[in-house]
Amino acid sequence: MARAAGIDLGTTNSVIAAWEGGEADVIPNAEGQRTTPSVVAFTDNGERLVGQLARRQAILNPKGTIYSVKRFIGRKFDEIREEAEQVTYDVVADDQGNARISVRGKLYAPEEISAMILRKLADDAGRHLGEKVNEAVVTVPAYFNDAQRTATRDAGKIAGLEVLRIINEPTAAALAYGLDKQQHETVLVFDLGGGTFDVSILDVGDGVVEVRATAGDTHLGGDDFDRRIVDYLAEEFQKENHIDLRKDPQALQRLYEAAEKAKIELSSVTQTQVNLPFVTADQNGPKHLTATLMRSTFEQITSDLIERTMEPVKRAMSDAKVSSDDIDEVILVGGSTRIPAVQSLVRRLTGGKDPNMTVNPDEVVAVGAGIQAGVLKGDVSDVLLLDVTPLSLGVETQGGVMTRIVERNTTIPARRAETFSTAADNQPAVDVVVLQGERERAADNRVLGRFQLTDIRPAPRGEPQVEVTLDLDANGILNVTARDKDTGKEQGITISESSNLEAGEVDRMVQEADRNRTADQELRREIDARNELDALAYQVQRRLDELGDAAPPHERSRAEMLVTDARQAVSDQAPVDRVRELTEELQGVLAGLQAVSAGGGQPAGASDERSESSASDDDVIDAEFDRS
Ligand code: ADP
Ligand code: MG
Repeated sequence: MARAAGIDLGTTNSVIAAWEGGEADVIPNAEGQRTTPSVVAFTDNGERLVGQLARRQAILNPKGTIYSVKRFIGRKFDEIREEAEQVTYDVVADDQGNARISVRGKLYAPEEISAMILRKLADDAGRHLGEKVNEAVVTVPAYFNDAQRTATRDAGKIAGLEVLRIINEPTAAALAYGLDKQQHETVLVFDLGGGTFDVSILDVGDGVVEVRATAGDTHLGGDDFDRRIVDYLAEEFQKENHIDLRKDPQALQRLYEAAEKAKIELSSVTQTQVNLPFVTADQNGPKHLTATLMRSTFEQITSDLIERTMEPVKRAMSDAKVSSDDIDEVILVGGSTRIPAVQSLVRRLTGGKDPNMTVNPDEVVAVGAGIQAGVLKGDVSDVLLLDVTPLSLGVETQGGVMTRIVERNTTIPARRAETFSTAADNQPAVDVVVLQGERERAADNRVLGRFQLTDIRPAPRGEPQVEVTLDLDANGILNVTARDKDTGKEQGITISESSNLEAGEVDRMVQEADRNRTADQELRREIDARNELDALAYQVQRRLDELGDAAPPHERSRAEMLVTDARQAVSDQAPVDRVRELTEELQGVLAGLQAVSAGGGQPAGASDERSESSASDDDVIDAEFDRS
């Protein structure tokens, strides 16, 4: 017999849960622990250690101990350059620019290191259950892009697991709580782990979980709290003994372990003792570290870390357009949410609500994944899973602006289509540039991919109808297609090595967009005004061509002059006032020309019709290459 399991492959710790007798249970590892450090070590004597054993020798083997590899999975080296400098082991680029771990003369893909962790979890669980674990649902942060999700899936494959589904961590957490929920609820998931912080706002109800917004901080977690205690203890020790323990790897390793232990104890007691006998020695003999750490001291030295969780919570709420009154439930996820000060802050931020911790915060994600595994194996009645896009998706259109097709925080799976047209007469092809981001100007956003739709039948500008469809599947993988409605010809791409945006980058882009909103809107108005003028000039020209000799000479020459001026203004990017002035004049001229065809009707009546039929509200996909 074989089994399906749910796996929370965490930055710091990983957890596995299997579906058994109507519920998902966490399975302890070979060391008897319910969480396994996501650490792999390659030792001096060629041994490979995974989990607690690897973690225990980390500081003594800084180059050979691989931790936080989740920060590198599915990433290009260029994107994680800074992050790479913060770890003690070597992260390098391979020939394709992918991030690789270099250890003891060998290169490993982050997927391979992750696979070693997955393998241990699955093997240990299999031994415990007495049957092989060969299928899994694996969780990833909500902001993981396609490349990161695909790489996580590959890690599963390398570990010999069939990955049934990749699901988002907050979604899994909600699932662990949400199954029995009858009525509709808004849930805030507050996930403070070892090195990362994530907030999500979800809609839960009737067996459906929908992620409405996410925010976070990629460099905030329990490790920061440990470091504060280490610094505090080391400084106290130094005051007395004039020795900096942080300079001695052996002592530092012990200090970190003691700090984490003290921190964990302070979650349930108000004072704890730190004892490190023989921590170092000087000419007078061995030295021992003994200190009492009060919870109040711990709270003082970490208060700024706790404060830092506020901003992302507020941002997620504002993105989801909810206030603290709208939040029905708060779910705490991640070991660090056991810290009492974290819990009181969460209570404060959510209008006094008692956070929900009935499912263990270290285990809740794995439990949810285990439930999803049960769903997919048909053991649990179906639960729908919905997530959101962290950033808007769209295409570049005339004037170098981004036209959004899928707005940020749209629930996925999502499929949106919009129809565009050409920017020039007889344009044989359009360039589809797929963008991700919040800025109005295309160049300020990220290019996810580009392709061409060719063989468009010769037609005046604005006539061909090209339908662009963005299709985001349940795993967050994006398919873009462009279809010529006339010929039915279709072209498309799957964004595979796509966005590679981390939450920090997402946050940065969103904040940048917020800061630049007014300027961007101004820019957008200018470009729209120019596009409108351009379209109008084109219409007038066409009208003149249609009328031929029927156009009164005086009106013709005025119209031709204005068309020339308008085109000049567009290409010179003239000030918006000038553009509007010309637009008005051209509108008048066009009305006059239309009246000619109508057999001398009233210009006023025609002018209404004209604005209706203006081509300018149709977005056009720019194609620079055939503007001739
Ligand atoms: P991740 O999701 O980042 O892999 P976890 O959710 O397992 O990690 O969180 C790990 C962090 O939680 C570690 O920093 C650990 O010290 C901390 N932690 C675990 N239990 C407690 C506790 N009782 N009190 C405070 N911190 C805790
Ligand atoms: Mg986690």
